[in-house]
Amino acid sequence: MKIAIVRERADGETRVAATPETVTKLIGLGASVSIERGAGESARFPDAEYEKAGATLGGADVVSDADIVLTVRRPTAYAIKGAKPGALILGAMDPFGNEGEIDALAKAGVTAVAMEFMPRITRAQVMDILSSQANLAGYQAVLEAATSFDRAMPMMMTAAGTVRPAKVFVMGAGVAGLQAIATAKRLGAVVSATDVRAAAGEQVESLGAKFIMTDALKDASGAGGYARELTADEKAAQSALTASHIAKQDIVITTALIPGRPAPKLVTADMVASMQPGSVIVDLAAERGGNVEVTQPGTVFTTANGVTVLGYTNWPARLATSASQLFARNLYAFLETMFDKKTKEFAVNWDDELVKATVLTKGGAIVHPNIKLPGAA
Ligand code: NAD
Repeated sequence: MKIAIVRERADGETRVAATPETVTKLIGLGASVSIERGAGESARFPDAEYEKAGATLGGADVVSDADIVLTVRRPTAYAIKGAKPGALILGAMDPFGNEGEIDALAKAGVTAVAMEFMPRITRAQVMDILSSQANLAGYQAVLEAATSFDRAMPMMMTAAGTVRPAKVFVMGAGVAGLQAIATAKRLGAVVSATDVRAAAGEQVESLGAKFIMTDALKDASGAGGYARELTADEKAAQSALTASHIAKQDIVITTALIPGRPAPKLVTADMVASMQPGSVIVDLAAERGGNVEVTQPGTVFTTANGVTVLGYTNWPARLATSASQLFARNLYAFLETMFDKKTKEFAVNWDDELVKATVLTKGGAIVHPNIKLPGAA
């Protein structure tokens, strides 16, 4: 049983899908582990540490004869050439809008497993890459906002007078948003937040922040704990409420997402124009088009009225070590369920609900019900 870990090829990707810690555990499952040289370098895991953990180092050909390939981002069919037919490729597959690439993996004969499709049930929490990475992104968003902000975050009473605390508004109080709220509170900011799921209100308030929600919108909870898309009327009511609030904020952090859809636009150009010079916006949804009308995905810029907009598209990659540690543990936790503890044999239970939910390709075809090639019936 061979497990291979490849070096990430995507621009700006600093994470790695296995750490020396998880390599030791994978070997404990009875597998041999090969890792591409330099795979962990930008996450501060040197090759020597992997070797010490028992892995074999190699070139891009580490995938040769692999039964399992671990990646952070979806690899190209070319990058996994040489893996065994039917090999499991585990990582974030980002399939929506990329159906052609998923089809290429199917045609390459491998079984692509989309870790981001992990069901949100108690048993699978330890395998949930969306939560582990969003948590860190929410934290990092506040730190980078604070650094771009020319003023202090907490209230400071000094001999020279009092500095007022920063006002931070978090839009979307899911995993990233709640961590952003907690981090901003710790830095001493006055924090408010909004969400379209009523359940988020209690969580926001338990962190000591103020919850803001329009009466026109009772609850827009959708399936699996996620939000549904708002109707046009609901959107208008939400926008009217947030417009006046945003004008008074120093820092706005947006994290709102709806599974499989472009990020909802919550902050218009007019709202940005209403903010004071020196204000900061962090758009954590930039990778999915952004929650802020003016966001330029992948860049940081300052608007004509002096608002800095941070639109980085890969926030977890900005804390590569922590993000890799958690991501690698998520992958390990899922893989562990596929090994027989006694015989140490690798045997995937294709009927397991976690496997069914995450497997995109098998036997040369796309098998996931939600992934269709454009034009396919
Ligand atoms: P997400 O990344 O899909 O979205 C982020 C947040 O944006 C969500 O809270 C969503 O309600 C909100 N949002 C969507 N549209 C919005 C809009 N128009 N305006 C304002 N906010 C909007 O969600 P997530 O952070 O991954 O998690 C959502 C929920 O799932 C949370 O309650 C979380 O605690 C829960 N969860 C459960 C498990 C589990 O049980 N295993 C694991 C992870 C998360």
